[in-house]
Amino acid sequence: MTRQPIVNRTTFDSVMVPTYSPASIIPVRAEGSRVWDSDGIDYVDLAGGIAVTALGHGHPAVVDTLVAQANRLWHISNVFTNEPSLQLASRLTEATFASRAFFANSGAEANEAALKLARRVAFNRYRDNPDKVEVLSFAQSFHGRTLFTVSVGGQPKYATGFGPLPQAIKHLRYNDIEDVTVSIGPNTCAVIVEPVQGEGGVYPANREFLLTLRRLCDKHDALLIFDEVQIGVGRSGSLYAYMAYGVTPDVLTTAKSLGNGFPIAAMLTTDELAAHFSPGTHGSTYGGNPLGAAVADKVVELVNVPTVLNGVRERSAHILAALRGINGRHGIFRELRGMGLLLGAELSDDFAGRAPDFVGAALSAGVMILNAGQNVLRLAPSLIIPFEDIDEGLRRFEGAIPSVIDSEVTV
Ligand SMILES: *Cc1c(COP(=O)(O)O)cnc(C)c1O
Repeated sequence: MTRQPIVNRTTFDSVMVPTYSPASIIPVRAEGSRVWDSDGIDYVDLAGGIAVTALGHGHPAVVDTLVAQANRLWHISNVFTNEPSLQLASRLTEATFASRAFFANSGAEANEAALKLARRVAFNRYRDNPDKVEVLSFAQSFHGRTLFTVSVGGQPKYATGFGPLPQAIKHLRYNDIEDVTVSIGPNTCAVIVEPVQGEGGVYPANREFLLTLRRLCDKHDALLIFDEVQIGVGRSGSLYAYMAYGVTPDVLTTAKSLGNGFPIAAMLTTDELAAHFSPGTHGSTYGGNPLGAAVADKVVELVNVPTVLNGVRERSAHILAALRGINGRHGIFRELRGMGLLLGAELSDDFAGRAPDFVGAALSAGVMILNAGQNVLRLAPSLIIPFEDIDEGLRRFEGAIPSVIDSEVTV
């Protein structure tokens, strides 16, 4: 018998590559929208594992699906197909504009596939124009951490120091129709956009802006890629946000909530575009793995019903009303925005830069929330979070506010 190493939070600082600076507590157990740490202290989860646990923690039907699949078949490779991935692809194509699915393991990989597809389509269609490779993206956007996706993302700090970076990428102003109208051209092969920017500060797109992107992409034969990695799978109040906007992309990427915490992602597209990825052009060892596919199929089945989607809108309205109440008493927010259960509360100027302080104080008071940058608090709870947990979580959050207001500004 080998000895089980004793671990605690300080272990992180000695054995992990320090890409993160995790909180002082270690969650060890969770159920629904409640989490317990290694000291047995409970937290209300309004963060949802960063917009991932759409059906909360330990959902019985999802757990049963994973366990049943684990007992049947874990992994077989893409040398063979497998029933769960075929079922998931059938379900997703039936439920969306798309007729083809490619599976990956993360949002970044789904976007990588989408961007590579766009370059490939242009390569195949425009042999006489090798310059049709340009990707248009938007400031503050986030598309993942591979070298291509981090270069396409609109937050330069994430790409700094990793050069040479992929080329022919331009960043435009989000929701700025004028900027994209003058920037797009015959050399553009793709426009990639989050219908609601998540990491960048919870900014929903204007419908007029997305309609313009659709029209300009058609005009210049560029692919319109919607990155719905964060807002997708019911979080917007529709299965995908494109449905709520009434603007259909050529390619859609989805991850985070898709597996409710089991790693899986998908790139969805049309028959015609999919044909440009012939056997051997792209792939993944784990992509469409039976475990992930079985879980995702169950998640989409459970989320894509009117009770859950209407419930998202009801919970969204309930949270916004509660936040307005909190703001009436404390005056800490300058704006509340978002869509469905991806909500942002931008701090007023007096609290500029202090979003992480609020997140820390909230955790100490027993509620998990997120920030999106230094000035915006972000909520992304389970789509089926009980209203009592919302109320208890926001009560704990409100209790934590004075400690932030009264504390010195840390410079
Ligand atoms: C989280 C996120 C990604 C990256 O997903 P990973 O699974 O971390 O690779 C990409 N796009 C958006 C909009 C995201 O929110």
